[in-house]
Amino acid sequence: MNKGNEVNYMFYIPKRVQVLVSNGCKAVCVCCGSRKYLSFDHIIPLSKDGKDCNSNGQILCKSCNNIKSDRLITLNDLKKEIKWY
Ligand SMILES: [Zn+2]
Repeated sequence: MNKGNEVNYMFYIPKRVQVLVSNGCKAVCVCCGSRKYLSFDHIIPLSKDGKDCNSNGQILCKSCNNIKSDRLITLNDLKKEIKWY
């Protein structure tokens, strides 16, 4: 009955990610290219005085975001770490 209302969480795109996409970002994880479980990531974490604005935002999937956590790390360094997974 409710099938039409089901949210596909695997490919659900949060509103903040949609904003980045409308600003020209691809709707994929900038680190691994995944299209699943996308999330908004603060390039400079809020805990490191990063601003909560779209210019400090990038798209990461859930697993890359978990690895990055709230560290201040460049995309290249993050990619190197992810290769070990
Ligand atoms: Zn990823």
